[in-house]
Amino acid sequence: MSFHELESELAERHHAHLYRRRRLLESPQGPEVVVDSKRCLAFCSNDYLGLANHPALQRAMIEGAELFGVGGGASHLVMGHSSAHHQLEEALAEFTGRPRALLFSTGYMANLGVITALLDKQDAVFEDRLNHASLLDGGLLSGARFQRYLHNDPQSLAQRLDKSDARRKLVVTDGVFSMDGDIADLPRLSRETRKAGGWLMVDDAHGFGCIGSQGGGCAEHFVLGVEELPILMGTLGKAFGTAGAFVAGSDALIETLIQFARSYIYTTSMPPAVAWATLASLKLVREEHWRREKLARLIERFRTGASQLGFELMNSSTPIQPILVGSADEALRLSEALEDRGIFVSAIRPPTVPAGSARLRVTLSASHTDAQVDRLLDALSAINGSQS
Ligand SMILES: *Cc1c(COP(=O)(O)O)cnc(C)c1O
Repeated sequence: MSFHELESELAERHHAHLYRRRRLLESPQGPEVVVDSKRCLAFCSNDYLGLANHPALQRAMIEGAELFGVGGGASHLVMGHSSAHHQLEEALAEFTGRPRALLFSTGYMANLGVITALLDKQDAVFEDRLNHASLLDGGLLSGARFQRYLHNDPQSLAQRLDKSDARRKLVVTDGVFSMDGDIADLPRLSRETRKAGGWLMVDDAHGFGCIGSQGGGCAEHFVLGVEELPILMGTLGKAFGTAGAFVAGSDALIETLIQFARSYIYTTSMPPAVAWATLASLKLVREEHWRREKLARLIERFRTGASQLGFELMNSSTPIQPILVGSADEALRLSEALEDRGIFVSAIRPPTVPAGSARLRVTLSASHTDAQVDRLLDALSAINGSQS
């Protein structure tokens, strides 16, 4: 066997301008980073509240390592469920207003675990067509009948639910869509799901910490309790600045996951110090409202400026502010032109987004300044002019 076949596939990807490469980050996350040995201004992390390198989190991580050691050592069901994990689960249950919460090592694993634990081939899963890859993968892996409904369209969902005679019907959506930045119409999606006797699951990776007056995410924003939104998933590696994820819901849900979610059972628990640091970030998320307020002002500043320059923005009030470009080549050209000016914005291309909708995905963080947003706008203005 030779690898020629793989090499030609890789070459094809190159020609299609879809080749991905990793950059080397040589500094902590922040508005200014050192990448491939160059200092630059970045608008591409998911560190929305600027907590990933916060001194209080650093201290908690060190303290956690001193109290609990470094490695989780075993899975939760064997001997790896430490009191740091347990305290964080209790705090997250309280914060989300749910009876219980369960930690997973990553958001990807949480989504795979939940969907496969709840569904099998007698069941059906209904997914927004722009859902995150981990939700799609979970749906496919579960063996349930897989259906996609039109983006954020409760009517399209209702039609599909109506026609289904599956044993269980699980409706799955991003809370804030990761590549578009818009917020799902959860009250209406919840109503349609409940009418059909189904369950709603929301992946709030990009809303948790950012939206809701206390940072409780989409559930807080729309005031959805465990009845309306029985399966709430959030991640800790984005606005919370640490790592991992959780699922919050009823006692029966959480016990089912502990018994049956394979990505929970067959893996080592996250380092307990990470859970300890996350307790510190939860405190900052809840108490320091100024981060969300500042973020809202930066979002407004960016949107106003970019629209004045004639760029096509999307319907987003969140820190995810994509600039729609269209072709993959053009998105790449713009991102390279920004990079020449010392600014990093990622070009998002198919297959991450549908063909013809390549974009620059600008993400803002509470740690950016007004002047940094203005620098981005100035650079956008300059490269836009050079286009024609
Ligand atoms: C980032 C992300 C995940 C995965 O979470 P990780 O903790 O990074 O594995 C899941 N869903 C959505 C919508 C995400 O944006």
